[in-house]
Amino acid sequence: PGVLYIVATPIGNLADMSPRATAILSRVDVVAAEDTRHSGRLLQHLGLQKRLIALHDHNERNRAAGLLDELEAGHDVALISDAGTPLISDPGYVLVREARNRGLTVSPVPGPCALVTALSAAGLPTDRFLFVGFLPAKRTGRRAALDQLRQESATLVFYESPHRILGAVRDIAEVLGEEREIVLGRELTKAFETFYSGCVSEVLSVLEADPHGTKGEFVVMIRGAEPVASDEDAGALDVDRLIRLLLPELP
Ligand code: SAM
Repeated sequence: PGVLYIVATPIGNLADMSPRATAILSRVDVVAAEDTRHSGRLLQHLGLQKRLIALHDHNERNRAAGLLDELEAGHDVALISDAGTPLISDPGYVLVREARNRGLTVSPVPGPCALVTALSAAGLPTDRFLFVGFLPAKRTGRRAALDQLRQESATLVFYESPHRILGAVRDIAEVLGEEREIVLGRELTKAFETFYSGCVSEVLSVLEADPHGTKGEFVVMIRGAEPVASDEDAGALDVDRLIRLLLPELP
């Protein structure tokens, strides 16, 4: 059978395309891409002409079946997404899962990924981080999602689109507090690459003051919560919980 390659592509700067990624793309029989027009341009830039098959969230189940047949027929397939690493807030999970279930070889070809790129230069702790993908688009859902992360001590990482960034930072201020440290990585690897950092209220006023500041793609990173409970508090909490748990059992 063929090999399924998971190939990372640039997140903005075409010079970040790795030689190995280009070599694999030139070698495979089929390229599965999220948006065939977008990826067609990348392949054209690389001087490659390939059979392209669209694989996006809405058709992944159907298309995966066809791609698995290709692999089983001995054809090598490369999966790419519009930008960065496939499966990271991008399609491909169904295909990779099913390929592995069938015992096919799945081989990663690493490269750019916006979340790792942003974290590597943000100056926030990176020993533990929680990648949350995109927050819910609507305000209520977004606030509820943030509220659940209030006590999380790992650095939080989100993806956000330009038309929602302001609303998201406003909700972060309200739910996680204006004092939290936040870093926004915008248009990374591109001409207008910018980092905004400070406490949430500072970053919010910078964004609100500059209408151009909210243009482009963003990675949002937030310092995790300080551990609040002292050992004694934690002990007290546990006893409380224990009593509540045991209460119904008591005669
Ligand atoms: N698979 C991609 C990766 O490996 O990073 C992510 C795909 S996701 C659909 C797109 C989101 O990634 C954008 O909305 C933005 O939050 C983030 N992103 C992608 N490229 C970026 C860049 N150059 N600068 C900042 N954020 C970027």
